[in-house]
Amino acid sequence: WDVAILGAGVAGMAAAVACARLGLRFTVVEASQPFTTIVNFPAGKPIFTYPKDMVPAGPLQVTADVKEALIAELRRQIAEVDIPITTGTASHIERHDGALSVILKEGEPIRARRIIVAIGRSGNYRRLDVPGEDRHHVSNRLHDPKALAGQDVLVVGGGDSALEAAIALCDAGARTTLSHRGGDFARAKSENADRVARLAAEGRLTLKLGTQVRRIDEGSVEIGTKGGAGETLPNQAVYTLIGREPPLEFLRKSGLKIRGENDRGAIIGLVTFFTAACVIYGMKAFGWFSDQSWNPAVLAKRAADQLTPGTIGHVVLGSATGFGFWVTLTYSAVVLGFGVARIRRRRTPYVTAQTSTLILMQWLPLFLIPEILLPWLGYQDAWNSGVGKAIQTNLFPAVDYAYHHHEYWRFYGVILAWPLFVWNVFTEQPYAWWLWISLVQTFVIIPIIVWKWGKGAYCGWICSCGALAETLGDQQREKMGHGPMWNRLNFVGQGLLAAALLMLVLRVVGWIWPGSAVGGIGIGDANRQLVAHGWKPVVDFALASAIGVGLYFYMSGRVWCRFACPLAALMHIYARFSRFRIIPDQKKCISCNACTTVCHQGIDVMNFANKGAPMADPQCVRCSACVQVCPTGVLQFGEVDRDGRVARLDRLQASPVLMREGRGQPAGPTRS
Ligand SMILES: Cc1cc2nc3c(=O)[nH]c(=O)nc-3n(C[C@H](O)[C@H](O)[C@H](O)COP(=O)(O)OP(=O)(O)OC[C@H]3O[C@@H](n4cnc5c(N)ncnc54)[C@H](O)[C@@H]3O)c2cc1C
Ligand code: SF4
Ligand code: SF4
Ligand code: SF4
Repeated sequence: WDVAILGAGVAGMAAAVACARLGLRFTVVEASQPFTTIVNFPAGKPIFTYPKDMVPAGPLQVTADVKEALIAELRRQIAEVDIPITTGTASHIERHDGALSVILKEGEPIRARRIIVAIGRSGNYRRLDVPGEDRHHVSNRLHDPKALAGQDVLVVGGGDSALEAAIALCDAGARTTLSHRGGDFARAKSENADRVARLAAEGRLTLKLGTQVRRIDEGSVEIGTKGGAGETLPNQAVYTLIGREPPLEFLRKSGLKIRGENDRGAIIGLVTFFTAACVIYGMKAFGWFSDQSWNPAVLAKRAADQLTPGTIGHVVLGSATGFGFWVTLTYSAVVLGFGVARIRRRRTPYVTAQTSTLILMQWLPLFLIPEILLPWLGYQDAWNSGVGKAIQTNLFPAVDYAYHHHEYWRFYGVILAWPLFVWNVFTEQPYAWWLWISLVQTFVIIPIIVWKWGKGAYCGWICSCGALAETLGDQQREKMGHGPMWNRLNFVGQGLLAAALLMLVLRVVGWIWPGSAVGGIGIGDANRQLVAHGWKPVVDFALASAIGVGLYFYMSGRVWCRFACPLAALMHIYARFSRFRIIPDQKKCISCNACTTVCHQGIDVMNFANKGAPMADPQCVRCSACVQVCPTGVLQFGEVDRDGRVARLDRLQASPVLMREGRGQPAGPTRS
């Protein structure tokens, strides 16, 4: 064949019609019957389609709004086309000598020049794994609710399929019980959840939240809460609508790599990258290999010593005698390279503005100014008198260890605030200027930013960790874990914030009352050791650098930001008063979960969107990935007023769908 099409769903049949029109020799391989997914919808199921005005590029068009009409509409469109269908289940695809073969579970392989895989997203039905599950009256599909009128029916599940089935059964007059292991219907459409709640309140539906099925017998079923007593209910039919496993086996056997699955190569890659991150940051933080002739810092020193002091070459090479210079240079180059790639890939005004700002922040205040401009100004005598002298004395004290004789690296603290960057505050002697700068930054400027634009204005537009996460990490977003277990790890950042606050208070007391008992601890050896041998190796090296960067390609670029950053933990407190929200246009949400999947801060965005609730999770770093990926343009950045009403939507467009439609969708007067 020229083409073998696997699956006779809407996609496969659209491909078949297109092949027929092009005069290609093709066949369709179908495990069940054409349009089987839709045929298996419950009778009378309403069909939700969005955007209404979208015209599919393929030959099949869909306009119907109820199951039966949709099937009729689709069948009508294929009636006049000769579509050869091979009944069989494709096990996998093989390639031999450049030719492709579909290997069927039963039957001869089908050879074709090209294969279109249109098998949908649903594999085998998930199972309850309880006794009696294979009985004849247990099913995964509800075809005709009317046939169950007057019977005792149990529906199991908490998603839209289960809720729609329960509603249809109630409407058909079945005595329906809905069992769901969760405490609410967080992932279902709010219309469905509301309808179920109304039916329960009217006594037409029995709701059993927090329960699981224990066994299924003829005429009865036993359910119960976890660890609680069981309850036996009369029953004639059970519908287990707990989802389907994706058809991963087909893809694996066909040799396709599945994102998130780690083969041997991925594990070796992880170990190698993690080790490299440890070594590089160890060289930066602890001076490992600092006397090795191959170390670029050593080579730079040799070259700098040959040059006339104050020339630009001497300044650059002098700064490069610290290994940190090389790390920051590489970091900035990565942000630039991957940032440009992100702008070209994403193509929204929001991503362009955000990424350009991150690149500029990284290259100017977080590299060129402290490493080159400030030392160069020193050689031009800019710091010898007047304001210049005051600035240098108070902000960049003279030291012996630095090639340019001053601690210009402290300038990083202008952007990176305490307690993310603690080194301008946790000093032996108080540096009054830095203390004031840090105080205003952390307790005045950042709270205002967070209040107005959300934490993401700092984490997604300014901070260097954000710069790397949004550029190098742009295609690693899906790797972040989701769910309550991962959320619990936030305690690391909260613990570090508490530790930083304690160390700060002790130190300040020590500076003010050095003779007091508490002050003695603050400026004593123990606190000094804690900073040098606790904070630096554990927080700066192990958590922020080795783990934070080492796990980039394994768990996304926001591991440090999400779980451990103490500044983020502080901003989460400020964010309680923030006006920033992600505003959903609920009626357009098709609950596809794409927004949740791409959120590298682990936020269940869909859970807000399909309920129409403005998303106020303080973890949000305003990366715009959810807004960008939403296929129906549900989400927009915006702001609410004091009463929680939507006050404003961002003018900077982040949604390609809304850009195509030429507008920002006005959202309703929702409350947060
Ligand atoms: C309960 C439910 C409600 C839904 N409601 C809506 C809605 O209201 N609005 C909306 O837009 N979408 C809805 N959807 C989603 C919609 O049905 C799918 O997006 C659509 O069917 C996808 O079409 P497809 O051709 O890609 O896959 P499918 O329609 O799933 O077709 C895949 C075909 O491949 C066949 N197949 C699978 N594996 C193999 C194999 N190994 N070998 C051979 N054949 C195979 C299957 O039998 C099937 O016929 C709903 C889905 C479900 C399950
Ligand atoms: S979470 Fe912390 S490290 Fe990450 S971007 Fe925000 S402030 Fe920076
Ligand atoms: S909610 Fe959206 S914008 Fe916020 S961090 Fe998650 S993906 Fe990014
Ligand atoms: S990506 Fe859009 S349509 Fe899909 S669940 Fe999220 S908000 Fe809804």
